[in-house]
Amino acid sequence: MPYHLGFGPLHRYGFYKRYGFRTTQARQVILDVFYNCKEHLSAEDIYLKIHKKYPGISLTTVYRTLEILNRLGIIEKHDFGDGRARYELAHHLCKKGHHHHLVCSGCGKVIDYDDLVDKETDFIKTIEEHLSKRYRFKITGHLVQFFGMCPECSKKGK
Ligand SMILES: [Zn+2]
Ligand SMILES: [Zn+2]
Ligand SMILES: [Zn+2]
Repeated sequence: MPYHLGFGPLHRYGFYKRYGFRTTQARQVILDVFYNCKEHLSAEDIYLKIHKKYPGISLTTVYRTLEILNRLGIIEKHDFGDGRARYELAHHLCKKGHHHHLVCSGCGKVIDYDDLVDKETDFIKTIEEHLSKRYRFKITGHLVQFFGMCPECSKKGK
């Protein structure tokens, strides 16, 4: 997947067509929201962002579209432990690139970081090699999330 795809509206590149999906307005609009790929968005977040301009797109449609985009590998689904799925553009389509998460249990803030220390990268590589041997499982990716308290919440002693 060419890296630069994340810098233009994805549907213009025939994204859905390539995967054999019909391009509907809802799919285009929702993909455009992700195209900025700055935040981790829930279905409700997206619905609220587009509702005013596109009142015809229901929350159910948003849910359904997110599932499709996730299955196609266009967006990634995350569980930050608050019972609400969040989505972001898949890292290979996104300016942010591959990153890990720091999730604050106090305020729910999610920090993306890609300045992995060498030890972290080595550690993950070692685990992946070990697991793929042990389970004869071809690993194609991973998600790493650390939970804790951000500086503001630590100060408040939440
Ligand atoms: Zn990683
Ligand atoms: Zn916090
Ligand atoms: Zn992220």
